[in-house]
Amino acid sequence: MKKGDLILLVLTAVCTIGVIAGFLWFKKPAIDCVVYEKNEEIGRYPLNTDTTVRIETSDGHYNILKIENGEASVCESDCANQICVNTKAANKAGDTIICLPHKISVILEGRR
Ligand SMILES: [Zn+2]
Repeated sequence: MKKGDLILLVLTAVCTIGVIAGFLWFKKPAIDCVVYEKNEEIGRYPLNTDTTVRIETSDGHYNILKIENGEASVCESDCANQICVNTKAANKAGDTIICLPHKISVILEGRR
């Protein structure tokens, strides 16, 4: 093996590792699922931990937030329009699920 070949090999290896690391970084970014009632934060859950949370609103209603496989969704709610339940699962920073009747928003926020 020539010296040039070795350098090329090392460069290729470094690039490959970089691409894989980059892919994993984008694939599993650190994201928090933050729940707001009106504009007040009432809960914050890491998206990488499966959990089911019952969100009680201050006027006696509820939404059930499910975090599973890196996705957050509202699986149940007693709101009138069920838009939050029908919103597809959120999995990227910036994704938002809103329950207008309950003034609840679930926002995925990237963690720094
Ligand atoms: Zn709703």
